[in-house]
Amino acid sequence: MKSSHQDTQKIIVGNWKLNTTVSEGTVLLKRIHTELRGMTGAQVVVCPPATHLFALREEIHTFKSLPKLSLGAQNISEYEEGAYTGEVSAEMVKELAEYVLVGHSERRKYFDETDKLVAQTVDIALRHGLKVILCIGENELQHNDGHSKQTVLDQLSVDLSEVTSKELDNVIIAYEPVWAIGTGKFAKPAQAEEMAQLIKSTVTNMYSHADSSEVPVLYGGSVDPDNAKAYLDEPSIDGLLVGGASLNYKKFAAIARLAMTKEPSGLKIGL
Ligand code: PEP
Repeated sequence: MKSSHQDTQKIIVGNWKLNTTVSEGTVLLKRIHTELRGMTGAQVVVCPPATHLFALREEIHTFKSLPKLSLGAQNISEYEEGAYTGEVSAEMVKELAEYVLVGHSERRKYFDETDKLVAQTVDIALRHGLKVILCIGENELQHNDGHSKQTVLDQLSVDLSEVTSKELDNVIIAYEPVWAIGTGKFAKPAQAEEMAQLIKSTVTNMYSHADSSEVPVLYGGSVDPDNAKAYLDEPSIDGLLVGGASLNYKKFAAIARLAMTKEPSGLKIGL
């Protein structure tokens, strides 16, 4: 893929959700880094609560060895600025993090985020230079009724409606079947592969411009060290979005390691 999508590195993202204090999160981050010391070859992104981003960014700056860990926010406001008490803006996050999750199913379910709002949030994130990890996926009812594909197509058509082909380089799609999130009921790798192929071909068709090629697609939903490799081995799955297992540094590092190699030339991060 062009620019940011050009490399073929897998992307491993940890979503800490509403867990850890700043001090606990700092310890967790350090432990993840220590477990992965000297490894390279994948983009490892940690998405802590927004309160942690400043401290974790400072902590990352003290790391003298690979891998280079990146930070993501779990959400941003759909508004630029102003009288929106409690919100965190794209501009604020941009100083602290590289990525942002948008449209996670928990945001859709508990905070009534509609596809229209998701589209607005994607737009604002991209305009501020954040890389968007757009979460889509069908719920259990839609899955059981055989509507998984249609659900994802409908989400893509609205959620990406404000995205230009140039901006697409900063979009990653996470296919997360809602019935698989935090349930231990993960999708079969072949099913996830089929959905990843559908997502890629749909996005390619939406953006006929020469700038657009395949958007990276992650799988998320009860990923653990035992099932992660099967997803990473699928040709259209470019990485993983990990929730519960990302709070356990050994499990998260074990998952990330599957997509990484040991850097033979030393441990220097070269920042
Ligand atoms: C998630 O939060 O996006 C997620 C996939 O959670 P879990 O891995 O716990 O299913």
